[in-house]
Amino acid sequence: MKTVGQDSVNANISTVYRALSNLLEVGLITGTSIGGGRIVYEFNRGVAHSHLVCRDCGRVCDVDWPVSTEQYENYARSQGYSYLNSSLVIFGRCPKCSGGGHR
Ligand SMILES: [Zn+2]
Ligand SMILES: [Zn+2]
Repeated sequence: MKTVGQDSVNANISTVYRALSNLLEVGLITGTSIGGGRIVYEFNRGVAHSHLVCRDCGRVCDVDWPVSTEQYENYARSQGYSYLNSSLVIFGRCPKCSGGGHR
């Protein structure tokens, strides 16, 4: 009974991955690389924004400044590239990991 349960978990994970790539293709969600091979998947809000990432525990926070992608876009164009998207990642150490705060 236990092994049957594990099989169904594996099947569910591959289903999730397939669903993810489908959602990415239709643009409902976005996948943002935050380095180290990690990708943050989130709903496509149609607003470019940055991410604040803790290097130690990997915690990811949305940075809700509107990011002006015009500069990136212009630069890409000036180099003869067609612009797709861009992302900015801020790396740091969260209060928990830096140990300075209350623990
Ligand atoms: Zn942390
Ligand atoms: Zn985000």
